[in-house]
Order: sequence, then structure tokens, then C-alpha cells
Amino acid sequence: MLEDKDRIFTNLYGYQSWNLKAAQKRGDWDDTKQLMTVGQDAIIDEVKNSGLRGRGGAGFPTGMKWSFMPKEPTEGRPNFLVINADESEPGSCKDREIIRHDPHKLLEGCLLAGFAMRARAAYIYIRGEFIREAETLFAAVQEAYDYGLLGKNAAKSGYDFDIFVHRGAGAYICGEETALLNSLEGKKGFPRLKPPFPAGAGLYGCPTTVNNVESIAVVPAILRRGAGWFKSFGREKNEGTKLFQLSGHVNTPCVVEESMSIPFRELIDKHGGGIRGGWDNLLAVIPGGSSVPLVPANQIIDCPMDFDGLRELGSGLGTAAVIVMDKSTDIVRAISRISYFYKHESCGQCTPCREGTGWMWRMMERLRTGDAEVGEIDKLLDVTKQVEGHTICALGDAAAWPIQGLIRHFRPEIERRIAEREGPALEAAE
Ligand code: SF4
Repeated sequence: MLEDKDRIFTNLYGYQSWNLKAAQKRGDWDDTKQLMTVGQDAIIDEVKNSGLRGRGGAGFPTGMKWSFMPKEPTEGRPNFLVINADESEPGSCKDREIIRHDPHKLLEGCLLAGFAMRARAAYIYIRGEFIREAETLFAAVQEAYDYGLLGKNAAKSGYDFDIFVHRGAGAYICGEETALLNSLEGKKGFPRLKPPFPAGAGLYGCPTTVNNVESIAVVPAILRRGAGWFKSFGREKNEGTKLFQLSGHVNTPCVVEESMSIPFRELIDKHGGGIRGGWDNLLAVIPGGSSVPLVPANQIIDCPMDFDGLRELGSGLGTAAVIVMDKSTDIVRAISRISYFYKHESCGQCTPCREGTGWMWRMMERLRTGDAEVGEIDKLLDVTKQVEGHTICALGDAAAWPIQGLIRHFRPEIERRIAEREGPALEAAE
């Protein structure tokens, strides 16, 4: 279990103020200039060595992503840093806590990351529904300007750096990085075809790196305490600490910072107060936000909660939004509801997603009520495979994977419903 002295987010629950004075007492903005004196490439190397992988879901190595940015931005094509604070994945609720209670960690991280990538400005794209969080963020940015930590000669480092906060309008798809960039430019939040990747042509056609809030907020701690310290938590290739978000049928739902690779049982017992009704009552877990496939109880109990551990179970760590479901859950209904969500949030740009998500949801509804034939289960599975990997962005995959997980692990339950419905119907017909 992670000790208190190793926690990065020491005001996660808002027991202290978010403001600059309180943040400085917690160690934020402490001689930031000194951290920058090592130079831009040294910062990138340190982040690479720390093993930090993106905390927004994909898990791409953060330092490597930074190294794709041009080292010498040309006139008229500046480098940009964009922070994805859209956090719309059902189950995810960590970035909002950082912004609400510890925004200066994010702002200091923006300066350090922006400096390392030769960016002169960062844009924080915050989800429209985060009204209080946006208020706090605007106020924190203003404070940082007032105290000379941003703007000209930011934190007396000799480097000019600005931060702009942009409020979204609440579309899930704007959490996809290229849709986010379009939205930031004032266009419809449509994902872009890749390549070109944002590091080549991103915001306003300029080199851009889009990072998650948590990924950037941990950077100052990594630079202060060293890559070796951060790397000492978790398993190889899954290093660091992580904000886990426990929701659903646990006794004490919470957001908690823990060491990566903590076993699922330990995570739930120590922080979630155990499963409602005891461990024998656990049915399944969606370990990384609604888009990743569920994992049945017996497989996840001893699993290390990290990128590789969950991938080996055919699922993913995603944002570490752990949705726990006990045996009172109607699992087919739960997945059908998720299908509805993705149907609703599809931007409609590409046919497999636009048509497929609606088709999959309607099929799921029939399986939910048992009003289907057994052969249709495989037909639905086949359709999910036709959607997966054949769309512009990952929403198609996100709609397909939960259904694939359901069929993989709970096919007998779906068949039972069909049989139960078929029996009386046949009798009536006879
Ligand atoms: Fe839009 Fe769906 Fe295509 Fe993504 S996969 S671009 S959400 S239609």
C-alpha cells in the first residue's frame, strides 16, 4: 500500500484550500525555475526514465510522446501543449478532483511540460459540465499570473509561457484528442483522420501534444523527487502511482492514489471497504471506464491493476475507473445501457460507427429481454468485429468491446434469457 509520504496528490479530498498559498505549503511552485535549469531535453529524458505512461486511457509513454515534438519550432508554426480535461468516460472522476482541489499541480506541470516541448502556450480544454471546477481553474490561472508564475518570464525562469482555459460544451467525443482540437478551433467536434498526428499538425495546423490532466499534474513531483522514485512503484513497464476511481457495489466508493500494480483485492479491501455483501457476492468488474471489456470475478480478484495485467485478461486499465458489479446486477442490461451511451455519443462521421452503434444497441435490447434467437448472439459478435478497427476514432472500438466482453464471459446468461422467453412462447403457440 502506498504510504502517505509518497502521495503526490496530498489535497485530493479538498481538506485544505486549493489556492496558491496552500498549494505552496504542499510544495507546489517550489523553485520551479531550478527544475527548468537542467534544460529541455533533460526534462524529457527524466520523464522518459520515470516510466510514466499516459493516464488518459491509452497508456502511451509520456516522455516519448513529448520527444516527437519539433526541437526548433519555426516562425509562424509554434508548438502547443493541450491538456485534455474533458473527462467524459463513464466511471472516470479523477481529473475533476485534481482541478477542484489541486489545480496548481496541473498549472506547474503545464509550465514544465510546455517548456520541455518548446511550447509557448498551453490550452486546457475542460468539460462544459465542470462548472465549479472551471471556476477554480480560472481563478488558479489568474493567481499564477498575479504572482508572476505564468506569463512573461514565468516563475522567473526567463521563459515566457501562457495558459488559456477553454470550456467545452459537453460532448463525449470531444475527449478524443483530434475532436478536441477541432472543438478548440471553434469547429464541430469531429475526430480527424490520422495521420497526420497532432505532433505533426495539431492545433491550428501546428505541432501539438495533447496530454491528460493527471499525466501533467504528476510531472513536477517526478522532477523534484526523481525518476527513480516514481519508478519504484508498480511493475516493470507499469511504473508510478495512479489515481484509481472505485465506484459501483463497493462499500466506500472513492478516488484514491495508489501504487500501480496493486492487486485488485487489496485495492478494494483497503480503500473500497470491500465488496457489498462480501467477496462471494462479486459478479464482474469493468476495470478502466465503460469502454473496456468487463472481467468476471474469479479472473480479476488477484490481478495486478496495471496496463499489462488487465491486458492479459482481455481488458484494459483505461483511466483506472473501476466499476464494481455484485450479483444483484442485471449484467446484460448494464452492457445494453453502455451500448446506448455510445450510440448517443457517436458523432456520425463514419458509417460503421454511425449505423453499427445503433444496430448493436437495438440487438442488445433484444438480448436483454430474451426476444431473440440463439444464433443472433454470434451475429452480434460478428458485427462488433466489423465495427472494431474500421472507424476514424476509437469510439467504434469503445462501443464494440463491452459487448464482446459480455458475450465472452456471460454467453450462458444470454442464452438462458432466450430459452426462458422461448419456452412459454412455444407453449402458447402449441
Ligand atoms: Fe465519429 Fe464514431 Fe467515426 Fe469516431 S468512430 S469519428 S465517433 S462516427
